[in-house]
Amino acid sequence: MAVADLVLVGTVLTMDPQAPVAEAVAVAGGRIAYVGERGGVDAHIGSGTRVLELAGEVALPGFHDAHVHLTQHGVELSQLDLSSTRSVGEAVARIAERSRRTPAGGWILAGGFALQRWGETTLGADARALLDAATPDRPVLVRSQDHHSAWANGAALRLAGVGHHTLDPANGTIVRDGGGAPTGLLLERALELVWRCVPAPTPAELRAALAAAGADLARRGVTTVHHMAYEPPSYWRELAAAASQETYPLRVWACVPQEDIEHAAALGVATGQGGERFQVGGAKFFADGALGSRTAWMLEPYAGGGSGVSVDGPEVLAERFPLAIAAGLTPVTHAIGDAANRAVLDALERTAAAWRAAGMRPRIEHAQHLHPDDVARFGRLGVTASMQPVHLTFDVDSVHDLLPDREARAYPMRALLETGARLAFGSDTPVAEPDVLAGLRAACDRAGPAGRALAPGQALEPLQALAAYTTGAAHGIAWEHRSGKLARGFDADLVVLSHDPRRSLEDLSVRATFLAGRQTFSA
Ligand SMILES: [Zn+2]
Repeated sequence: MAVADLVLVGTVLTMDPQAPVAEAVAVAGGRIAYVGERGGVDAHIGSGTRVLELAGEVALPGFHDAHVHLTQHGVELSQLDLSSTRSVGEAVARIAERSRRTPAGGWILAGGFALQRWGETTLGADARALLDAATPDRPVLVRSQDHHSAWANGAALRLAGVGHHTLDPANGTIVRDGGGAPTGLLLERALELVWRCVPAPTPAELRAALAAAGADLARRGVTTVHHMAYEPPSYWRELAAAASQETYPLRVWACVPQEDIEHAAALGVATGQGGERFQVGGAKFFADGALGSRTAWMLEPYAGGGSGVSVDGPEVLAERFPLAIAAGLTPVTHAIGDAANRAVLDALERTAAAWRAAGMRPRIEHAQHLHPDDVARFGRLGVTASMQPVHLTFDVDSVHDLLPDREARAYPMRALLETGARLAFGSDTPVAEPDVLAGLRAACDRAGPAGRALAPGQALEPLQALAAYTTGAAHGIAWEHRSGKLARGFDADLVVLSHDPRRSLEDLSVRATFLAGRQTFSA
């Protein structure tokens, strides 16, 4: 019997339905060597074994964050964060303050622009001028909370060559005033017109960003992330290199953009390749936009009109899901509106024989607004619903305003579970903070910032929500044989919480995180 490197003694929630609670865990060589009664662990303890007695604390499998943009999260940790600002004025003041500390000509990049939170419906024709007053010479680009729109000043628009005569790009809008001049607001793909002028981070900056992102997720109890692509190739290169190191605090399953299926196929790059720490993920598709910018594609119009947009529409899905599957790449598709979700389910139904034969686990990212006829299709087909509970807290007011007749259908987590679907939970960081404990609370109380709950009948029990961050997410990447549970032979990825989450999710905190038995965070 192997002498353990690490032993934890106390309450252990294994997330294994066969034996849900244990009294001790032993770790040897990066794997779980023992889970069970306290008496049985003594045989694993040697002179070099670190023994941790949990006093009221509880050990669980390390969390998965099933939807992240990892490098971008790290990059944004160094940028100006406006997500706590309560008004346009406060945001502009923070930008002016940052400008004073930015060298002449240097870019000011910020995130967390959210009209809803600022109590505004529009910035009107003055959007650019508000920023120009704060900093006329340094280019400013402020991304929205959902990353589907941005707010730029005159200097940024000038550098990007965006003016009166610039045409709207496909799937994007340059918002204009009555005279046709850009107001500074850029929707969907139009923000790339400015974004592509921002100097790319250097490899050293990317390595620092990845280290910061890894540390940030480790302190939230996360040990595995599902990375959702749509980052530049230079980011992938550093991400793959960093996450292949034994010292990196996360395991990474990293998707490729669907536009690159042909490149992946030409090279033979396919889902599941790699090692135990870094693996190639699926092919990421985008079926629609997002709710806040009314670009989520809906079957019926929003209150106030419009039904959103389809991005990778039904024709693209019909043509490219078979290409992805033939290349060995699992389809992973962003779908927020009910029309988008239906289109993806239809396309997955038509290709089911092929992806089942290949042993794939197709998934829909977000699955936020579902027509009741489509809910049971997730379970029936075997499509993972990869959802972000914290998003529902931002969306309470938007759903109320834009979909007042469809509030009860928003984020139907309980209905999905009851009809046999598997849930995988994540954060979509940097769109939302990768705070697993906030996600658990949101899934269980469904409460927005003002206390109003969104479709409270869809609330989960704590153990159901925990399963979506552990076993459900592990199944979503076909890692159920090694991850998501504390069972003998599984990866020794663990988190220690301050108290039993089954008792209460209030005042819960992460005390320690371990990856392959190595401590990656200590409170
Ligand atoms: Zn995302």
